[in-house]
Amino acid sequence: MIIHQVDQLEFWSFEQLEEHCVHGILTRKGGVSPSPWDSLNFGGNIGDSRQNIIENRRRVFSAINRPVESIFDSWQVHGTGMIITDKPRNLDEIHQKADIIATRDRKITLFMRFADCTPILLFDPEHAAICMVHAGWRGTLAGAVKAAVAGMREGFSSRPEKIIAGIGPSIGPDHYRVGNEVIQAAEISFGSSADEFLLQKNGGYYFDLWAANEFLLRQAGVEFIERSNICTACDLTRWYSHRAENGKTGRFGAFLAIR
Ligand SMILES: [Zn+2]
Repeated sequence: MIIHQVDQLEFWSFEQLEEHCVHGILTRKGGVSPSPWDSLNFGGNIGDSRQNIIENRRRVFSAINRPVESIFDSWQVHGTGMIITDKPRNLDEIHQKADIIATRDRKITLFMRFADCTPILLFDPEHAAICMVHAGWRGTLAGAVKAAVAGMREGFSSRPEKIIAGIGPSIGPDHYRVGNEVIQAAEISFGSSADEFLLQKNGGYYFDLWAANEFLLRQAGVEFIERSNICTACDLTRWYSHRAENGKTGRFGAFLAIR
């Protein structure tokens, strides 16, 4: 990935998306939120003030030189629902629920929030369409990225083999120990392939969100896949990690727009 720094802000971009999309996975640096959300928090309803989040948002949009009013973000619910939008979200209105958001409108900036779940960015260069996916274990095992590719085929006539995908920082297989609920769900979703994503060590099982999402993307016909392989729980100076910080943390942002 490519690390960008603008003032105190830092965001990471995918090499193969760089020429096509204004995009990035923001770190937690450079915002105004106090501990334990320090500092560039975008999570609402976790204790941080609305004013802090609005100021954090203003800083990011100023840094990327796009109007805040271009934002389209959603209420993320760990599902596979998709919204294709042709207009930004009215900032006075409540978010619609969706874990997959997409557009072909150059004026729109797609935006989501993360703290261990996997951000997946998709771009179709043939139809100039973008899509962002929020996939934790539930979304991953429910096939959110496949639903995203199917939605792009239907909504934009995208051909999967032309889509460029980036799998961003999330909790990695080194840190993501899982229990029976995830193990059983993985076996139902992946059958005999589940072993590839459930690594046995230290007397337990560790789930590999990156490999699972890459597998699903390849199944959907996507060939150009860049993986960051960055674990959020390994570097708490940069990322928020719900697991490593026992739920007392913020949410970092990810943005995506057509260049
Ligand atoms: Zn780690």
